Amino acid sequence: MKLIIASNNAHKLIEIKAILGSVFDEILSMKEAGIEHETVEDGSTFMENAEKKAREIAEISGCPALADDSGLSVDALDGAPGIYSARFSGTHGDDKANNRLLLEKLQGVENRSAHYTCAMALIWPDGRKITAEGYLNGRIGFEEKGDNGFGYDPLFIISGLEKTAAEISAEEKNSISHRANALKELLSKL
Ligand code: IMP
Repeated sequence: MKLIIASNNAHKLIEIKAILGSVFDEILSMKEAGIEHETVEDGSTFMENAEKKAREIAEISGCPALADDSGLSVDALDGAPGIYSARFSGTHGDDKANNRLLLEKLQGVENRSAHYTCAMALIWPDGRKITAEGYLNGRIGFEEKGDNGFGYDPLFIISGLEKTAAEISAEEKNSISHRANALKELLSKL
């Protein structure tokens, strides 16, 4: 059985292939499957967005499709930036500006607890679906630390490790991340 990943992000593809490679004969990115499509992510939850992306790619490709949506939720900000994580500061994907704004909003705030969420949806063209959610708990530091990772990682201090997600290796992060946890949950449901 062929699986299409509703993403062209090389890092996500490697993580997904490592965990789901034993279940599917072939795992292809949208590009590898020759699909060009942009889903409008207008859901109100991570899972709504993941399901919408997976459903559209399953319908276009005629194959089961896997999509994820992820982001950072900060308790003191009532869960923000949440589904708006990539464009918290206004410009999509401007990690530096997003981190600056996060530090500004948390100035003088004592409770800095936060978590990453990853929602994963695997949807077949006939509508069957399996969903899973994974989390990584931590807190927001007072300054950026580390050069690895992406997004909010330099500010995200992982619970129990006392290092930011940018101070650990990609291998270590991939083994404990919200994406890894969602994928493991999905695999157990498969
Ligand atoms: P996506 O749904 O994986 O594209 O993630 C959306 C946004 O959430 C990213 O642009 C980041 O701002 C944030 N994000 C999601 N996962 C991570 C992570 O593992 N580290 C840092 N930021 C993340």
